[in-house]
Amino acid sequence: MLSSIFKKFAGRANKKWLKSCQSIVGRINELESGYQSLSDDELKAHTSQFKARIQEGETLDDLLPEAFATVKNAARRLVGSKFSVIGQDIEWDMIHYDVQLIGGMALHQGRIAEMATGEGKTLVSTLPIYLNALSSRNVQLVTVNEYLAQRDSEWMGCLLSYLGLSVGCIKNQMPPEQKRKMYGCDVTYGTASEFGFDYLRDNGMAHSAEEQVQRDHYYVIIDEVDSILIDEARTPLIISGPAPIQREQPYTKMKSGIQRLVSKQVSFCNKLANAAKAEFEKEEESAIEDGADELDPLADLLLVKLGAPKNKTFMRLMERGDIRSEFDKFETEMHGDLNKDRMYALKERLFYTIDEKQRQADLTEKGRVELRPDDPDGFMLPDLATKFSELDKNTSLSQEEKDAIKLKEQEKLEEVGEDIHAISQLLRAYSLYEKDVEYVVQGGKVVIVDENTGRVMPGRRWGDGLHQAVEAKENVTVERESRTYATITVQNYFRMYDKLAGMTGTAETEATEFHDIYKLNVAIIPTNEPCIRVDENDVIFKSRREKYNAAIEDIEEANKKGQPVLVGTVSVEASELLSRMLRRKNIPHNVLNAKYHQQEAEIVARAGIRGAVTIATNMAGRGTDIKLGGGVKDKGGLLVVGTERHESRRIDRQLRGRCSRQGDPGRSKFFISLEDDLMRLFANSGPMSKILQNSMEEGEPLEHPLLNRSIETAQKKVEQQNYSIRKRLLQYDDVLNKQREIIYGIRNEALHSEDPSQTIFELVEEEFVERLESESGESEAGSYSGFVTWLNSHFPIGLREEDFDGLALEAILDLALEKVREAYRIKKTAENEEALVHLERFILLNSIDGRWQEHLTEMEELRRSVSLRSYGQKDPLSEYKNEAYTYFHELVGMIRTQLCSRLFRTATNMVAIENVKTMLARQAVARGPGDLTPTSRGPEMARGNEVSLPKVAVKRTAPKVGRNDPCPCGSGKKYKRCCGR
Ligand code: ADP
Ligand code: MG
Repeated sequence: MLSSIFKKFAGRANKKWLKSCQSIVGRINELESGYQSLSDDELKAHTSQFKARIQEGETLDDLLPEAFATVKNAARRLVGSKFSVIGQDIEWDMIHYDVQLIGGMALHQGRIAEMATGEGKTLVSTLPIYLNALSSRNVQLVTVNEYLAQRDSEWMGCLLSYLGLSVGCIKNQMPPEQKRKMYGCDVTYGTASEFGFDYLRDNGMAHSAEEQVQRDHYYVIIDEVDSILIDEARTPLIISGPAPIQREQPYTKMKSGIQRLVSKQVSFCNKLANAAKAEFEKEEESAIEDGADELDPLADLLLVKLGAPKNKTFMRLMERGDIRSEFDKFETEMHGDLNKDRMYALKERLFYTIDEKQRQADLTEKGRVELRPDDPDGFMLPDLATKFSELDKNTSLSQEEKDAIKLKEQEKLEEVGEDIHAISQLLRAYSLYEKDVEYVVQGGKVVIVDENTGRVMPGRRWGDGLHQAVEAKENVTVERESRTYATITVQNYFRMYDKLAGMTGTAETEATEFHDIYKLNVAIIPTNEPCIRVDENDVIFKSRREKYNAAIEDIEEANKKGQPVLVGTVSVEASELLSRMLRRKNIPHNVLNAKYHQQEAEIVARAGIRGAVTIATNMAGRGTDIKLGGGVKDKGGLLVVGTERHESRRIDRQLRGRCSRQGDPGRSKFFISLEDDLMRLFANSGPMSKILQNSMEEGEPLEHPLLNRSIETAQKKVEQQNYSIRKRLLQYDDVLNKQREIIYGIRNEALHSEDPSQTIFELVEEEFVERLESESGESEAGSYSGFVTWLNSHFPIGLREEDFDGLALEAILDLALEKVREAYRIKKTAENEEALVHLERFILLNSIDGRWQEHLTEMEELRRSVSLRSYGQKDPLSEYKNEAYTYFHELVGMIRTQLCSRLFRTATNMVAIENVKTMLARQAVARGPGDLTPTSRGPEMARGNEVSLPKVAVKRTAPKVGRNDPCPCGSGKKYKRCCGR
């Protein structure tokens, strides 16, 4: 209801906006015809003139008509010129249409320009790129893959460089110097993930300003914006490396057990399904006599659904309207509160249960016994609290013995925890992740397939051990647990830009999300020529087989008369099936899927020629349009055949939009079956089963307006669910984002400041304040013995407690700080100044990085653990926020204390260390009888000119204490803030 009002309103607003653009279009065209009489050099001179005018205070908006006219006029002058783009000769043949000028205005205003495929969005972007680059800041253009980044940068580079702009393109494997050069250009093309990774490397990992490559986050235009900001936004960007401690991989170890479990469950479910089927058939014969047994087959079916939801017999039975409606009713009842116990008992007949919608898998009691008959409790976490308190009461043991036992228990807890986790991931891997659908195996690696674009995503990994579980399942090398070095969501990366804009053929259905998350409004730009595509009604079949047969018939018919066909599928598996079916019919065709994505652009480009048949997984964000070959218009243009409705309406629109570009004829038609995932999981079962009840013969399609509507409803449901997942991800990342800003802020200060010691001393001061405040709170009488001891063990300043007598807190702080500064000044005189700056930077970065990375891991764990707390009626997000705050506070504390410990324990070289030692000693003597060498360890020795930081060998004698547990030394502080740091 509300959304339809919003739509109408948005429609009106859009019309109004379009109208306001009209007069500017007129002005641009007028200017452009005036420019036609200029010489080439006069036109080119505009660029520097515009730049100068901006310097004098004119705004980009003021310049828009002239700048756009200049670009359009340059395009006109290039017509007929030959260029080489990715090694192919092309002739420039484009002059901006009016609708393209409007698109350019939308982009300049930071909107999403929705323009159909083939409308020439690539050319549209040149207008705002040129205009915004006049500000001398880095304008960026994001494409969906590197191939397109290179193609578009070279192709549009013809026009942009004609006007004197430099154009760069970022590639994955480029060395940093080259990337820096590319970002240094006026315009930089690249992919979203590479831009994001560069940001993370620059801010989270670079060790000097020279290593940083990006210069600006000013204005970015995202091509195929829905594909990037919606589809890709589901997985955050993560830079990770091997974890420092190698843990033994439980996956390989547990695999065979799980495999056994899975195959047992599969055959158990088969039996149940078959029994249920037989029961239904019997019932049919003997009509509705006995009501007593009636529920059993339904219960069996429910078990199958919980244990093996993709069971074939089960899916067949669900095609029958009468059974389905009965089953749906039964299922709803069973999920009700009244049937809790019964449901529980039912589940316990399985080895594990699967929740297909939530993508979860859980071991049951039966499964536990099966896995470890000798010790089913082996998969229960030990109750540490009780054990420990009993142990403490036990007087017959010495403290050491107790500690040893505690340590053992603690280790066991960790081990069991890991096993439980590994089992649940393996179950997911076996029962929910299918090869060639969710992932492919390439070169001994498990590579994720993006479910929306069908493209493989090399290098990305599922988190939380799932990837390792799938690797174990596929018998490829299980990679090491990795540690996150830096991470950011796509959303938060792009929100950093001053101005964001996007273009795509399909943004309307996701307009709310663009608006809420990115503050991006969608501008719907009319097509240059009216679109005459015919979208046919969906045809729906009961089974996949019937559906594919019908689709093949249509393809064959079109192919016979020479009409090109584009066939869309939702998975690699379906593509291959269709390909086999076509081969049997001797219809030549091309397959375009995740596996062959390198040649994809060329295949797509040829998909419109006479007689071509092209099968493609999912056309979103392919970035190449399909031009019709000669003689194809008379045959009705391109025929688009969809073989399944996608989860999201947008992807279907993308597929349909591939035909009828620029006023061409074209037709689109979707074939659907009730076995399709979307239909099985989400379609409203009520009306569906009614229709199925009076359904018909094998192979006959169902057509009913109700069905069409329930498909839309199903898609909307999934879209909403996916949006809330992304929103959730973002809400969590927002917390981390604030922290990241602070940490990266300090890091950048360290990298760019001429005098990093300023930053260091700010942090030192904060640490002093914190320590003093906590101590003054504890002891009434103003005793600062703790602080003094700490000071003297970290800084060579020899202060005594009496020095603080009679001083107020602030004066103490000043005195302590002044002492440290003085000591540092002395240290400085003994050092090589330039080397010292490097050292300071090094100390800062080093104190930050390791801790921050640990923190990232802790935050991931926190996130996992709060999601469990939602059982306790607590809102996991606010729990997360609270604890995240505490964690961060601690993190900053640890960074500061680490800094304090290192400040005087590192030096640029041997000589310097010796010098500092003697000078400090002299100073200290001159100051009085205090302790001369304040720390027993003294400065760490460094060999030659290299700097090494103190290594502390930790021998664990006491029980292993959790980092957040109270410190065993009795200080009352957390372990990680006290002895554990
Ligand atoms: P989109 O990204 O909108 O799907 P492209 O930018 O890939 O479209 O352009 C599609 C085709 O239209 C290209 O082959 C391009 O040469 C052509 N084209 C774009 N704009 C014009 C124009 N103004 N005049 C002539 N051809 C154009
Ligand atoms: Mg494009």
